[in-house]
Amino acid sequence: MSKLGFIGLGNMGGPMLANLVKAGHEVKAFDLSPEAMARAAEAGASTTNDAASACRGVDAVLTMLPAGPHVRAVYGETVLDNADEGTLLIDCSTIDVASARAVGEMAAARGFEMLDAPVSGGTGGAEAGTLTFMVGGPDSAFARGKPLLDIMGQNIVHTGGSGNGQVAKICNNMILGATMIAVSEGFVMAEKLGLDKQKLYDICSTSSSSCWALNTYCPVPGPAPASPANRDYEAGFTAAMMLKDLRLSQGAAQDAGTATPMGAAAAAMFALFCNSNDENLDFSAIVNMIRGN
Ligand code: NAD
Repeated sequence: MSKLGFIGLGNMGGPMLANLVKAGHEVKAFDLSPEAMARAAEAGASTTNDAASACRGVDAVLTMLPAGPHVRAVYGETVLDNADEGTLLIDCSTIDVASARAVGEMAAARGFEMLDAPVSGGTGGAEAGTLTFMVGGPDSAFARGKPLLDIMGQNIVHTGGSGNGQVAKICNNMILGATMIAVSEGFVMAEKLGLDKQKLYDICSTSSSSCWALNTYCPVPGPAPASPANRDYEAGFTAAMMLKDLRLSQGAAQDAGTATPMGAAAAAMFALFCNSNDENLDFSAIVNMIRGN
């Protein structure tokens, strides 16, 4: 058992914390939202009056915050000034690569080991403890952090140095956003040309266009029973989150000087979708925009 601090107890952080408590860890928790704090207390954490108190006297501090500016602020203004020497720092938020590397460098300059450890698997994975963690940071920090990540996830991959967890996450989601659009275009075209969707699915899912967006998350109702299309596109993974990750991918592409025209098109299409539809629908609902309804 170890003592942990956890800052950011929202849709993801809340259930991740609950799994750490269930595994027998003593967790000091802080969030700006009183409701999130109440849920953490119910899960068995001890809540603190401020973020600084959650960082003191613990073996590791974990954060699960909305975006890069929150992570820069929480680490720059609080965590690095209050954590005890030797505390392991793990940021699980999905943020821009530049912020992840800047915060990692600040932490290293102050003598802390830090991991960027964004996740995929959504709130269902957070509750079930089956998240995938993509982890950037030094080998020694990974070795120290893995036992904690193993409690919250089932697939923990060390992707290299600081920031590489975020790189893996945005590359994956850029590919996913673009393939979902391509799959949607195929199914809508088949519909308009009179080809049965089940026939198209049976062929594509076992041939060269086979991919997760098609096989598992098919954007039209019917062929893939577990896909959100069968539940009126209840998320799942919201279009707003996909747009956030696509925008992060485009920022990183600019910084790296790499061409991502498909990623850019996907970002533009999800921005259009979110402006004109319910952005909290599952991202596969983009098929309806492509169909024109
Ligand atoms: P959320 O908005 O539900 O939770 C974020 C929490 O951070 C909120 O409770 C908020 O009050 C708190 N917070 C913000 N600033 C703070 C501060 N300065 N101090 C303390 N608490 C602060 O968001 P979420 O869905 O839990 O997502 C968290 C991160 O995980 C995001 O980066 C998101 O992109 C990523 N993510 C989310 C999902 C998902 O399905 N929800 C999936 C994968 C990754």
